[in-house]
Amino acid sequence: MIAHKRIRIRSGKVEEGPLTYPRSGQYSKSEGWTDIRAVDVPAAAVLRVELVTGKGKTVSKILADMVKQHGGNWICFNASYFNDANGALLGLTYQDGKAIYPDVSGKTEDRPHLYYKNGQFGIGRLSSPVSVKMAVCGVPTLSKAGKAIDPPPTAEKTPSDVLGDNPRMIAGIKPDGTLGLIVVDGRGPYDKGLTTKEASIMAVHFGYPESVNLDGGGSATLATNNRLLLDALEIDKANGKRTYHVADMSANYDDRETHHAVCIQFDPDKLLPDYIIDHIPTSTLHNRRPGHKLEATTITFHNVGNPTSTARNERNWLTNPNNDVTASYNIVLDDKMTIECIPLNESAWAAGDGANGPGNRTSIHVEICESGNYARTLERAVDLAVKMLKERNWGVDRLRRHWDWPRPSDGYRKICPRLMYDGGTWAGWIDFKARISAALNPPIVTPDPEQPTKPVDDVTGHWAQDALREAIKDGVLAGYPDGTIRPDEPLTRAQYAVILSRGKR
Ligand SMILES: [Zn+2]
Repeated sequence: MIAHKRIRIRSGKVEEGPLTYPRSGQYSKSEGWTDIRAVDVPAAAVLRVELVTGKGKTVSKILADMVKQHGGNWICFNASYFNDANGALLGLTYQDGKAIYPDVSGKTEDRPHLYYKNGQFGIGRLSSPVSVKMAVCGVPTLSKAGKAIDPPPTAEKTPSDVLGDNPRMIAGIKPDGTLGLIVVDGRGPYDKGLTTKEASIMAVHFGYPESVNLDGGGSATLATNNRLLLDALEIDKANGKRTYHVADMSANYDDRETHHAVCIQFDPDKLLPDYIIDHIPTSTLHNRRPGHKLEATTITFHNVGNPTSTARNERNWLTNPNNDVTASYNIVLDDKMTIECIPLNESAWAAGDGANGPGNRTSIHVEICESGNYARTLERAVDLAVKMLKERNWGVDRLRRHWDWPRPSDGYRKICPRLMYDGGTWAGWIDFKARISAALNPPIVTPDPEQPTKPVDDVTGHWAQDALREAIKDGVLAGYPDGTIRPDEPLTRAQYAVILSRGKR
């Protein structure tokens, strides 16, 4: 998951709300709402991991140093609590195979580590620095073996001020080794923050069976120099100054000195997938995910009908409680990303032809956004269609417009996808299908008639040329399609059998 969400915990469950920020009433802090940003870092995306420590350093300063020193794309975050004004990290800390800070006797010996060892992130207590690139202590454990942990284990000696509502930096590990980083807002006018109990429920809900609470409060900071990641997390939106500092507890949005950062250099192509699966819950209001089994026979394309809405906006609208329309779609895409909102084997309500209409019940629905770079969006839609048709072994005859599904009561057809309508000629749609067709059936490249290929004679001058010519003339020995005989190439048993059988004719 790479997402910016507004959530609250009610009756032990995570609820998702709209990204709106009232001072009071619905969706306000007093109702328990808070913003989170989550970034999954798959193991394959990790190029380099460093633990950087030093007095007086902020996470964004460390990020700037890493970019200057190594270049590339980085994500940096605060992890461990610190111990004193010099920034000594609290608890046993490993860096590059050495212990750099010891445990605090009677306090930190049983606290879990977030570590990077033998090329893998993990959560758990380490006792040796061998092969450890970095290990920092967190507290408390939030989830273990898929279960939310509350109250925290007594042996971890969680300070009581950590348990309540706070901004947080949380690390989780998925079963495939993916590291999840979740930053929780709090303390500002709009966000409640989360208790450790709520954080543990959230960690399990978003798929992190192992997770730990790292240093939070005013220290919760996530920084990246990757523009796409900042956009995906909508970090800049709230305030122009808020490029790095995510937890909004400070008035000036400057990040606090944390004296250290865990720094991950990543491969953006592997961190930022352009096909994101972010299904709406089956409990989504107004029956937008009815759960009807779909055995699709066609794929239907739409335009969203809003010139400024992005794929992320459209996905969030589906779970926005202010949305009271029974309308949904399987996939939405814009110039940057594609989001699968409803599984492709479940029906969405997009064709307008009723609960049992063939448009709604037999087709996969794809919404094309109109915002951003529309030419790029169309290119991405062509690529998606090609991929989906190939996977199903279908041709372009399986493509439909929303227009192709009339309303049964009166035959009304919606002009959709509207940007392909072209005054009724549907020239845009014809062109769209032609591009898909061309990509499905790459034209066969015929040889240039000006330069006929000459048969290659690799027999003349060979020590066995007479015998070879005899065999060719008798039809016993045939050449390769390019006209060569390749006399020195060894024969397979099958080729030998073919030659023998030809000799018998
Ligand atoms: Zn439509």
